[in-house]
Amino acid sequence: MNTQTPDRSPLVTGGCQCGAVRYAVYAEPYNHHICHCRMCQKAFGGFFAPLVNVRNEDFEVTRGKISLFRSSRDVERGFCANCGTPLTVFDDGSDHLNVSIGSFDEPARLKPEIQIGTESRMPWFGELDDLPGDTTQSAGEKSGFSDELAVIAATNHQHPDHDTEIWPPVTQGQDDDR
Ligand SMILES: [Zn+2]
Ligand SMILES: [Zn+2]
Repeated sequence: MNTQTPDRSPLVTGGCQCGAVRYAVYAEPYNHHICHCRMCQKAFGGFFAPLVNVRNEDFEVTRGKISLFRSSRDVERGFCANCGTPLTVFDDGSDHLNVSIGSFDEPARLKPEIQIGTESRMPWFGELDDLPGDTTQSAGEKSGFSDELAVIAATNHQHPDHDTEIWPPVTQGQDDDR
């Protein structure tokens, strides 16, 4: 038995789009779900909120600060104040928080297992997978936006899908926001 502090190397990591907020998760998330409720639609600007549960003690903000909006008496929604990425949903007094799947560095490993809030589910939700599909590259070329794609690739301000020592990179030139 060693007496040193247990090595808390993160199991999974994530953060917001701009990289001002980064977090670490130290145990396997559970209750992978999507919530179609109208409040989640609004908060995420999407058709649903993809969420997993993480026990409070297994979640740590490793960079920056999560900003909070109290969307109802007992619920706080956490986001990055700099870029707006939705990050967490927390019920007062709960032993766990909900963390947005899309903000994880490897979201594909967090496959939803259940849907809730189905009263607000988009009536055509089940048809989405039948829509014609195209890659970003191919769709851009067909629309004549190849130059734009190159600009996006060359000036991408999105934090990469892994932890960084310094962000944004100090060699970065002036922003040319688009
Ligand atoms: Zn951000
Ligand atoms: Zn919801």
